[in-house]
Amino acid sequence: MSNIILARMGEITLKGLNRGSFEIQLKGNLRYRLKKYGKLRIYQSQSRIWIEPKEEDNPYFANDESAREIMKAVTQVFGIVSVSLARKFEGGYDEVCSNTREYVASVLENNPEYKTFKVSSKRGNKSFPMNSPQICCELGGYILDKFPQLKVDVKKPDFIVNIEIRDYNYVYSGKMMAHRGLPVGTAGKGMLLLSGGIDSPVAGFMMASRGMPLDCVYFHSYPYTSDQAKQKVIDLAKIVSGFSGHINLHIVNFTQIQLDMVKNSPQDMITVTMRRIMLQIAEKLALKNDCKCLITGESLGQVASQTLEAITATNEVVKMPVLRPLIGIDKQATIDISREIGAFETSILPFEDCCTIFVARHPKTHPHPEDVTEAEKNLDINAMVESGVMGTETIEINPF
Ligand code: ATP
Ligand code: MG
Repeated sequence: MSNIILARMGEITLKGLNRGSFEIQLKGNLRYRLKKYGKLRIYQSQSRIWIEPKEEDNPYFANDESAREIMKAVTQVFGIVSVSLARKFEGGYDEVCSNTREYVASVLENNPEYKTFKVSSKRGNKSFPMNSPQICCELGGYILDKFPQLKVDVKKPDFIVNIEIRDYNYVYSGKMMAHRGLPVGTAGKGMLLLSGGIDSPVAGFMMASRGMPLDCVYFHSYPYTSDQAKQKVIDLAKIVSGFSGHINLHIVNFTQIQLDMVKNSPQDMITVTMRRIMLQIAEKLALKNDCKCLITGESLGQVASQTLEAITATNEVVKMPVLRPLIGIDKQATIDISREIGAFETSILPFEDCCTIFVARHPKTHPHPEDVTEAEKNLDINAMVESGVMGTETIEINPF
């Protein structure tokens, strides 16, 4: 018996004629994500993807414990719904019995508290002389005979013995849930406005889960925002890249622009004018880097800059669609996702953000269009946007 990873596809299987291109992208993404785990064979049959080592001594496939790391990496690839570690073997019903016996013994060794089980079977190879109900029934009886301490419970068993009869036979139990979605690369690229907060990394994760590769832009106001604040954003980009793949992180030197704004624009309007400039710089960078939309972590009503009026005032300066995947999402739900993707601990590190440093104590929460015109009349917006784009440093972020 050898170990093999079984990964189940989700939404892709609902696709019509273009399903093939989604599957090719998914396999390519898996190859890229798993390249540090040795030479692998990654192939597909029906709605499953199988991953096995080309070399017998690949340590990641040695046992359940060592496979955990590579399985976790598979769960980070969008398009996969769940992952199991299976044992693969050849032969007829006799081999199914002997290998299942060996497998159940190893499951019980690791989980001595297990008392009940059931057998579930799938038969892809129709030339196998027994059908699925027969396999379940016969094999269930065989296991009861060999492991008298076990009982069958079809409703709520402690573990399920899954048998699949295909070109080879497979036995496995349990699964690790993945992040579903569509393979990154099946949608156009987006430019994520990535701050050091909780929301924007989650927003990037959510758009990547719909197949969108990402670039990121971060507005940095050194020395008002520290090197640690910048490092935090780099770390967050790296966490997001574990799901989205390679990211170009564009760091805009925002200091002079913010100082000009503070000097030449009314205090209570700075939140809006600053965000308008951010969006314009982001759009220019997006165009330069082949991105088709902007993404922010805004959520309606969360803070002063996220009222409908403030969002409208910010939105109108750009032509590109601005995607806001968190717009109707509760903060706690966002925090839950942030924890799940491993970003939360980094997001809550207490380094200042450029928005919080220059923000007015009482920002105008419902700005009128004429307020905005008035607030910007002493600003040379075009020059500010241009200087922002020019003063950008780009860092390549790779997940591993
Ligand atoms: P987050 O948790 O993502 O920081 P927030 O709740 O702090 O969001 P705001 O400060 O109003 O809300 O920012 C709203 C959105 O604007 C952010 O989600 C992010 O997309 C973008 N943004 C804010 N500050 C920056 C920054 N310094 N660099 C890049 N994008 C930013
Ligand atoms: Mg923030």
